[in-house]
Amino acid sequence: MSASKAGLDPEFVKKLNRFEEALAKQDIKVVMTCGYRSLEEQNKLYAKGRTAPGSIVTNARGGYSWHNWGLAADYAFIINGKVTWNGPWDIFGKVAASCGLEWGGGWKKFKDRPHVQWTKGQTLAQMRAAKRARQ
Ligand SMILES: [Zn+2]
Repeated sequence: MSASKAGLDPEFVKKLNRFEEALAKQDIKVVMTCGYRSLEEQNKLYAKGRTAPGSIVTNARGGYSWHNWGLAADYAFIINGKVTWNGPWDIFGKVAASCGLEWGGGWKKFKDRPHVQWTKGQTLAQMRAAKRARQ
């Protein structure tokens, strides 16, 4: 269930560690369920509910999610020893903001409460362009 922080931006990992500590201080225990996703993994996920069985889980194709750039992570709560998505999301969002993270639960169009990201002031288009330039 718990995901590794491998593949994530080292500065972002520091922020996540501070975030988790800040939550722990409020007696909120969380587990990271997803961190870095390769473009291939993202495209597979995007196919779900579209060209592959299942229901739609993301609106982002490969390169269109901050997970693909090592700058996003998803969390769940651990309550009474069990992983759950029913928890104090409001506090989660406030603590994320105080740690300099953008919270998906604050989005207007597609609320993604388990999701936090750190864009470094960049856009996804800039990230994709930089990758193309490296190839
Ligand atoms: Zn996410």
